[in-house]
Amino acid sequence: MTTSIKPHKILVIGGGAGGLELVTQLGHRYKKDSNITVTLVDQKRSHIWKPLLHEVATGSLDPSTDAVVYHAHAVKHHYDFQLGCFSGMNAENQTITLSETKDENDQVILPERYLQYDTLVLAIGSVSNDFGTPGVADHCFFLDTAKQAERFHNSLINNFMRINQQDSGVLNIAIVGAGATGVELSAELYNVTDMLRSYGLPNMTAQQLKVTLIEAGPRILPALPERISSSARKELSKLGVEVLENTLIKSANQDGFTTAEGNLLEADMMIWAAGVKAPDFIADLYQFELTRTNQVLVKPTLQSSLHENIFIIGDCCACAQPDGSWVPPRAQSAHQMASLVKKNIKLQLNNKALQPFIYKDHGSLVNLSRYSTVGSLMGNLTKSSMFIEGKIARIVYISLYRMHQIAIHGFFKAMLVYIAEKVSKVVRPKMKLH
Ligand SMILES: Cc1cc2nc3c(=O)[nH]c(=O)nc-3n(C[C@H](O)[C@H](O)[C@H](O)COP(=O)(O)OP(=O)(O)OC[C@H]3O[C@@H](n4cnc5c(N)ncnc54)[C@H](O)[C@@H]3O)c2cc1C
Repeated sequence: MTTSIKPHKILVIGGGAGGLELVTQLGHRYKKDSNITVTLVDQKRSHIWKPLLHEVATGSLDPSTDAVVYHAHAVKHHYDFQLGCFSGMNAENQTITLSETKDENDQVILPERYLQYDTLVLAIGSVSNDFGTPGVADHCFFLDTAKQAERFHNSLINNFMRINQQDSGVLNIAIVGAGATGVELSAELYNVTDMLRSYGLPNMTAQQLKVTLIEAGPRILPALPERISSSARKELSKLGVEVLENTLIKSANQDGFTTAEGNLLEADMMIWAAGVKAPDFIADLYQFELTRTNQVLVKPTLQSSLHENIFIIGDCCACAQPDGSWVPPRAQSAHQMASLVKKNIKLQLNNKALQPFIYKDHGSLVNLSRYSTVGSLMGNLTKSSMFIEGKIARIVYISLYRMHQIAIHGFFKAMLVYIAEKVSKVVRPKMKLH
């Protein structure tokens, strides 16, 4: 254990896939060292693992029961939690600004505050990138936060009820972006529609649902191997999803999307899931070197290219690998970066040389709800990928989330959470209808 003589404040901003794992580990590591404090800042009160947001959107997952509340988690894992939106920083004075927090009636709950740090970790994730496409911000749903996913869910339930009341209505949903989010959401929509009969909406069946998945590139899942993409495409077509490749969206309005060729793709609900960028306000801070998508450039050790005592992890980090590739914005990248930064903070406190980040791609999996899971696993020795699908792929897919739960709860509590989830699946409806 490091025994610090001078007081040292470690501040982590963003309690998502990477940040929450990091503060949990740091909290335990330094709990006996009264000179080292670990603080997490997040703009929300609770954490939901982001890869589950499409399940929140369709109602397969209820965030009110499945979320981790930061205040309570902090007490158990020996760190301090500060609610607030990070909006400014002064790297010279080593302070950050949290803007005031207001309630839904615009009453101030917490005033603007300044927090001091000795080591800062930025883990604020990413948001959808609409590439400035006209009308998208006003007419589309996004799945960046649990709040946005719930807003989509409410609208979806209202539309289900509306169609159920009609004799022959159809609910038209158009999704732009056939990456993992768009593909998984398409399948999940058919899954929940299939269940509605059991929950008192017998007229809203899968025949009343029309999902159109729109991709600008020549194939869906462009970042994954071709075999995964063609297997996922076959499954989606079986479900009834209309997949439109090579289709560039030029604008959106209340009726639907307009393509570059000028065709209108009509839709009752529109979702934008095409690409990500780090939040725009990072550029307004003028404190970092950024890429075109606002990601902060880092040294191999994950320190900001301009500041020795600031580390960047997860989706907001632009980390080049020795072969010239960039670390992809994925949960497994955030997880691996959190583990290295924990080590590097300790090394830095002990005035030792820091270690470089080498991303280990363990493969990619896409879950098509209960219908199928497809993906690839990377061989440790050969570095070649192995195509997997079906039950084995599903188990590996779920294990990613289980690993996150173990990282933030510890093994024993994670097992209890798992059992509680299984029990609640028996006693609760399979989907959230309110
Ligand atoms: C629907 C969906 C499905 C996905 N599926 C997969 C998948 O199957 N596999 C995979 O590997 N990846 C998947 N991803 C990507 C994965 O979720 C991200 O790569 C991962 O969550 C990034 O982790 P992070 O810690 O960088 O950011 P996040 O997990 O996004 O956490 C960022 C945190 O920062 C907080 N924050 C942001 N701004 C501020 C601010 N100004 N002040 C204070 N707090 C702030 C947020 O509230 C949040 O808690 C998916 C993403 C989505 C949206």
